[in-house]
Amino acid sequence: MNIHDSEKIAGMLKNLGYEETEDKSNADIIVFNTCCIRESAELKIMAKIGDIKALKKANKNLIVVVCGCMTQQKGMPENLKKKFPFINIIIGTHNLEELQNYIEKYNKTHKSFNEIWEAEKQIVENNAVYRTSNYNAWVNIMYGCNNFCTYCIVPYVRGRERSRKVEDIKKEVEELVKSNKYKTITLLGQNVNSYGNDFKDGKTNFVYLLNELCKIEGDFRLKFMTSHPKDFSLELIDFIASNPKMSKSIHLPVQSGSNSILKIMNRRYTVEHYKNLIDQIKLKIPNASITTDIIVGFPGETDEDFEGTCDLLKYCNYSGVFGFVYSKRKGTPAEKFENQIPINIKRQRITKLFEIQHKIVKELSDRLVGQTIEVLVEAKINNFYIAKTDGGKTIKIKEENNKEINLGNYYIVKINKALTNELIGEII
Ligand code: SF4
Repeated sequence: MNIHDSEKIAGMLKNLGYEETEDKSNADIIVFNTCCIRESAELKIMAKIGDIKALKKANKNLIVVVCGCMTQQKGMPENLKKKFPFINIIIGTHNLEELQNYIEKYNKTHKSFNEIWEAEKQIVENNAVYRTSNYNAWVNIMYGCNNFCTYCIVPYVRGRERSRKVEDIKKEVEELVKSNKYKTITLLGQNVNSYGNDFKDGKTNFVYLLNELCKIEGDFRLKFMTSHPKDFSLELIDFIASNPKMSKSIHLPVQSGSNSILKIMNRRYTVEHYKNLIDQIKLKIPNASITTDIIVGFPGETDEDFEGTCDLLKYCNYSGVFGFVYSKRKGTPAEKFENQIPINIKRQRITKLFEIQHKIVKELSDRLVGQTIEVLVEAKINNFYIAKTDGGKTIKIKEENNKEINLGNYYIVKINKALTNELIGEII
């Protein structure tokens, strides 16, 4: 979501005539698109803003902008301004699309300002986007979240769920496919499974949208993120299984393998419900690549709760796990929960989690040796082509004189060897 927001920011800057530079000291404008999902992200951005002080001193005309989730938090713009008085423009998540106007305003007046909108506004269409994600194009289908998981800051800084109209999304995807530059279209939303609920028309839902998008002619795959297990329907599993344009890579964040922890996280599903979804996915889509998010060390997590998470990992055989230690977010209910877990225990648990997952990934990779799979060739480094499977695994393919390979095309590859982080294959 943030990467795509940065692409929109870059699009607005291009509209104003700015070009990108690799060298900060050459910049006329620096925009920090911040994230506050974890404490470490906030600390990092603070350090990076601090680094700009010397540049600003050397170049009084440099414009410094800070936007994104972090600035939308109560009191944050004032804190930032106090700490870094050289910032020129601070805006929040709800008025990001206005950035172009704000920069023009600053260029006329040279007066610094903060402008944070408290409430979400109507969705703005036809944004300029400067895409930077190679053969993948991100497409927002909705904004905001209604779920209020007790650890999460997102609903407070991104507002309530608002869906884009089917026709607007379809028009954007059609243009992307027609441009022939993108092979994967990744639909974005905090909980894509509740797409269309706000229309209340009894017809528009996520599967309806996918069906409309899969009708678009062209050689592309449709992915989406992120899903919520409470809303991930059996109808969706059937649709993914039956439609060749749908990627078979599914990210289904579970967060914990303990029912009591899921309850205090306010996730509103049980481990049994989640396992049933995994069973159905494996049954209907045998080649699915399933990934998840896990938080370890949530307040009150016992050894037994954590063992439940480890068992779930083995049950699901994930091809990838994004594991995090719980970090307090100001303004969320979990910040005030008792029984916060000491950092040394959190570290032990995350280490164990990754050890288990590492073994699973190695076994899954070993199983691929000798198999043929479809890959997208994305780059060439020295004598090797770098390709990606549908599930995001990297495959190296040695260049051969008698085989012509074009970047950005799909090929069938035979896997010859599995290394720790990559596979070695040949085009057949
Ligand atoms: S569903 Fe996702 S974005 Fe929404 S509150 Fe829960 S974790 Fe945060």
